[in-house]
Amino acid sequence: MEDFDFENRIVSPTEIMGDTESDNPLRPKRLNDYIGQEKAKQNLAVYIEAAKQRHESLDHVLLYGPPGLGKTTLSGIIANELGVNFRVTSGPAIEKPGDIAAILTNLNEGDVLFIDEIHRISRAVEETLYPAMEDFAIDIVTGKGQMAASYHLPLPHFTLVGATTRAGQLTAPLRDRFGVSLRLEMYTPEELSDIIKRSASILGIKIESEGALEIASRSRGTPRIANRLLKRVRDFAQVMSDGKITLKTARIALDRLEIDELGLDANDRRMLWAIVKFYRGGPVGVETLAAAIGEEAVTIEDVIEPYLMQIGFLNRTPRGRCITKAACLHLGLNCPNEFDEQIKFEWE
Ligand code: ADP
Repeated sequence: MEDFDFENRIVSPTEIMGDTESDNPLRPKRLNDYIGQEKAKQNLAVYIEAAKQRHESLDHVLLYGPPGLGKTTLSGIIANELGVNFRVTSGPAIEKPGDIAAILTNLNEGDVLFIDEIHRISRAVEETLYPAMEDFAIDIVTGKGQMAASYHLPLPHFTLVGATTRAGQLTAPLRDRFGVSLRLEMYTPEELSDIIKRSASILGIKIESEGALEIASRSRGTPRIANRLLKRVRDFAQVMSDGKITLKTARIALDRLEIDELGLDANDRRMLWAIVKFYRGGPVGVETLAAAIGEEAVTIEDVIEPYLMQIGFLNRTPRGRCITKAACLHLGLNCPNEFDEQIKFEWE
């Protein structure tokens, strides 16, 4: 079978080589510059204002949704709007309770601590977090046996912002300790088009509205992908013409990058084909599918599936994944009933 490479593809919603995400000039700094996610934004604006008026720290916030939708960006904005420091870490980086204790004891009053991939913290670290989140204190044990001593250490009032692609994987006690829980949604092409125009102006790229919308509609609802495609399309526009991105240059560039009009690349199409070819359209369990295409099940669930489900190409049923009629049509097949005939035609 051909190799799949979902990790470093240009339409990956997670960071890939060549992305310069740390210190990214395209990241909005204030709530007003953050495009889309109106519901989350409006609620946050109220909570931030209320906390500021009361001179209190903001309640702990849980942000969840697929990668690349702006969770890290929004957390930084929360800190900026509150006028406090922004500390960043991630679930896998915090190995033991001592690591989180060191981070917590170095915070200042009101600071925002961002923990990315919070579903990946260990149970021991999680248990250290409970009293920290609830009572702003931690218990530290030093020494062993008879020499063991326990200290109750007060902490500054801080705001924990946790981000996760899988809210379902958090334990109930951890989830319950977040006062605010916001789900980020995939962006509409119009919102992505606004993001692209904003980024183009920051990067000094000339772009026509139709060109921006064309890139937007192939960006899989994800700002990270939109910004990346903008940069690649700019290269084509520069070499092919005067550098201005028009509908025509955008189309040619995206076709050359093999990203179709729905934003699917060759990997997506091959995975859909694999479901058709090996499992007659499904249902197929995610583990089985993962083994068939040589990919991790979590990558399928977090990175590949959300968009395919969003556009109605894949259904999650209790018995496994099924591809839909819309997906069949996109692949040039008529409908699932005709799989047998058509698969013969296509594959034998
Ligand atoms: P996540 O943490 O959810 O993976 P990020 O916050 O790192 O996503 O966002 C990825 C990139 O997309 C950022 O560098 C930022 O430039 C851009 N971005 C995300 N959300 C928005 C938004 N609402 N408006 C403008 N740009 C955005």
